Amino acid sequence: MTTVSAYAAQSPTEKLKPFTIDRRDVTAQDVQIAIEYCGVCHSDIHMARNEWGFATFPVVPGHEIVGRVTKVGANVTVHKVGDLVGVGCMVDSCRHCNSCHEGLEQYCDNKVMTYSSLDPKYNTMTYGGYSQQVVVDQAFVLRIPGNLDAKAVAPLLCAGITTWSPLRHWKVKAGDLVGVIGLGGLGHMGVKFAHAIGAKVVMITRSVAKGEDAKALGADEVLLSNDAAAMQKYANQFDFLLNTIPTRHDANPYVNLLKRDATMVMVGAIEPVEPVNCGPLVFGRKSIAGSLIGGIAETQEMLDFCSKHQIVSDIEVINIQDINHAYERMIKGDVKYRFVIDMKSLSQ
Ligand SMILES: [Zn+2]
Ligand SMILES: [Zn+2]
Repeated sequence: MTTVSAYAAQSPTEKLKPFTIDRRDVTAQDVQIAIEYCGVCHSDIHMARNEWGFATFPVVPGHEIVGRVTKVGANVTVHKVGDLVGVGCMVDSCRHCNSCHEGLEQYCDNKVMTYSSLDPKYNTMTYGGYSQQVVVDQAFVLRIPGNLDAKAVAPLLCAGITTWSPLRHWKVKAGDLVGVIGLGGLGHMGVKFAHAIGAKVVMITRSVAKGEDAKALGADEVLLSNDAAAMQKYANQFDFLLNTIPTRHDANPYVNLLKRDATMVMVGAIEPVEPVNCGPLVFGRKSIAGSLIGGIAETQEMLDFCSKHQIVSDIEVINIQDINHAYERMIKGDVKYRFVIDMKSLSQ
């Protein structure tokens, strides 16, 4: 075992503070990674404060990990010492269920999340990327393309794949009219991906300023959701809606925007929304669906797509000592669009 520095929440009401954790020695299948950057996801706040009720303390958050391989086990074939690699939201799964067999490890009932999750193989709780080093089974380690800015790649491992996977699953294609609802860490990636696929992208927001920001990211048009006339003009027009709003909200106005047979996919809120009127769903055979991150193979596909299209996240780099302040700013929506921790700061 190796003892490494980290930052942890010791309880739901305490700020994150320095902490030390033990990382296992590499087994034959393992990759040891010196963490260089870790993105800061809104889930990190929910877990550090136990807002979803399933956190186990202490919590070392962080599931947008980019780093260098420092050691590999005897059976590791894909990664070698010195490679730039990534780890996202999962570090293992059962590998036997239908979801695992179909490359949909994110829907495995026994997946092991990157932090605050019991790893049954080692009977330990997982600790995330707000740390110097991590040891992960090779099957859950991604290759990071060399032509991308490593620190701006980190958020692709959660925010990126969360928006990429539904665009692929619902077969969004060039020429489709795609609405991205909400402009934050998820929404800004949704705009970039949909634009790169060749869709016509409409940013749907209440904020004129966010609409202008979205245009700079690749949105073709802006639809202000508090403008009733504009919302009516777009009624029954959209081939696909990506709803990234992270909190309870009224989804009915967006359902009205969908074409017959079209789907709105929820990727932000994992909580009740306001009651949905089934009338418009029935009369238009419309769907509301959910989607959770993406599988490992699909995450690699996304990273390779990003390499080809030169796509990364828009980020603000912070030191780990700034993490509590960063959380407060995220809650206010004051970041464009993702904080990324420079993990060198942990050694200072
Ligand atoms: Zn996340
Ligand atoms: Zn499984």
